[in-house]
Amino acid sequence: MHRTLPAGLGLETHPRVVFPVPSAVSGNGAFAYSTNPATGEVLAGIRLDDERSYETVLGRASEGFLRWRSIPAPVRGQVVRAIGEELRAHKEALGELIALEVGKIRAEGLGEVQETIDIADFAVGLSRQLYGKTMPSERADHVIREHWHPLGPIGVITAFNFPHAVWGWNAMIGAVCGDTMVWKPSLLAPLTALATNTIAQRVAEGLGHSGVFELVIGTDAVIGERLIADRRLPLVSATGSCRMGRHVGSVVAGRLGRTLLELGGNNAVIVEPDADLDLALRAIVFSAVGTAGQRCTTTRRLIAHASIVDPLTDRLATAYRSIRIGDPLAEGTLVGPLISASAVEAFERAIARAVAEGGKVVVGGKRFGSGNGHFVEPTIIRAPASGLPIAHEETFAPILYVFSYRTLDEALALNNGVSQGLSSAILTGSNRTAERFLGPAGTDCGLAYVNLGTSGAEIGGAFGGEKDTGGGRESGSDAWKAYMRRQTSTINYGSAFTLAQGIRFE
Ligand code: NAD
Repeated sequence: MHRTLPAGLGLETHPRVVFPVPSAVSGNGAFAYSTNPATGEVLAGIRLDDERSYETVLGRASEGFLRWRSIPAPVRGQVVRAIGEELRAHKEALGELIALEVGKIRAEGLGEVQETIDIADFAVGLSRQLYGKTMPSERADHVIREHWHPLGPIGVITAFNFPHAVWGWNAMIGAVCGDTMVWKPSLLAPLTALATNTIAQRVAEGLGHSGVFELVIGTDAVIGERLIADRRLPLVSATGSCRMGRHVGSVVAGRLGRTLLELGGNNAVIVEPDADLDLALRAIVFSAVGTAGQRCTTTRRLIAHASIVDPLTDRLATAYRSIRIGDPLAEGTLVGPLISASAVEAFERAIARAVAEGGKVVVGGKRFGSGNGHFVEPTIIRAPASGLPIAHEETFAPILYVFSYRTLDEALALNNGVSQGLSSAILTGSNRTAERFLGPAGTDCGLAYVNLGTSGAEIGGAFGGEKDTGGGRESGSDAWKAYMRRQTSTINYGSAFTLAQGIRFE
């Protein structure tokens, strides 16, 4: 199956894209290849940045910041509004490109673009609501105010599995806050990044604003390391694995910069005996197999009450057997490929380890198909009563480990007993149980759902997780504060010089 790139995004003529791919350019380190994980076919070659071009990009973002920070926030909001409109016009093509490059089914590719459109709408409103506070001063004729100011050019590192929307969360909010963006995407999804950034840059430049949306594409060793060590970037917002976050966090902290870390998850759904099992089934299947298990919020652990664990697992297994796996762009496909051959190997290693640790494969467990695509079967593994150490790790594949429990305390201990703390859910008919789950002694995750699965967040809330997930919050609510610097100003509008705390200095 050969597919051409979606039309209307300008990729075929983009100066960084080598298309069709000349075999002569391979292996010299100056190019990366974007491949279709459903077929193994190379879609295009992309010219990589080096130290020199990185400096040029950083120069543009730094100079752009000096101008952009003084543009009134509501005017910045109008630029973001125009970007949202342009994304609407290119939604189909971008959604298809995401499906082609990272293997999401079309509906999920389109959903990702919609997420950026939604956050753009949110950011437009926010551009008139970057509110500070006024505090009463203890001194007569004084006032204390809090101002929120733009922070600077910021680094945005994104993971392969949300190659468009994670940029959107950062860039739309960062832009109304007055920051300029230096985006370093995953080398597994460079075309989506090029197409997306080209749209934002073209709209902003068309409205007279250059240096706001910048992009560097390169290896972690040459470009990634340079970006995280760069003191000109006061904030690095990084999305990816816990391993990456530990390194990026420590390098940025070493230069006393700020990070916003959105890292791996190991999310569980608790199913109580009084749950609506039809609802539970749908919620679990979507969360566990959607995006082929390659969401940070994928349900990886099912914690079901002992009285229902057997029938629920049976019904899940039946549903899993009916799931259509295949070409993500074909009608009716629910599960596309994993991102790469090494992701398939990680899936196989995890299954082998689970079995060695006493787990029992209920359904799935194998590669799927015979072509060059990276397909695997969505898999359910029943954990032994003694526990399953592999279930403490995030394997980025559709593997669901099933545990059973007798008391809610036991279920909560299982839910919280992993190092990650991103998303969690409970299915129950009892308000009391739901509130316990949501309370201070309940789930320890940043995201908590009742009668839903663990994935599919809306943009309006703050998104992120605790513990090894990194503690960052992006998207809605007051997440914008991470993209600004806070200034506390004290003004004396009288004529006396008085000191706080009653200090006399005469
Ligand atoms: P990854 O950690 O391999 O890579 C993520 C990004 O970090 C890439 O752009 C990569 O190039 C960059 N990176 C790696 N080392 C770097 C370095 N030394 N310097 C600078 N940049 C560096 O992750 P992945 O495989 O692309 O994505 C999957 C992971 O991301 C999973 O763990 C998933 O849970 C996580 N994720 C988390 C969220 C969230 O919001 N919490 C969202 C999406 C994905």
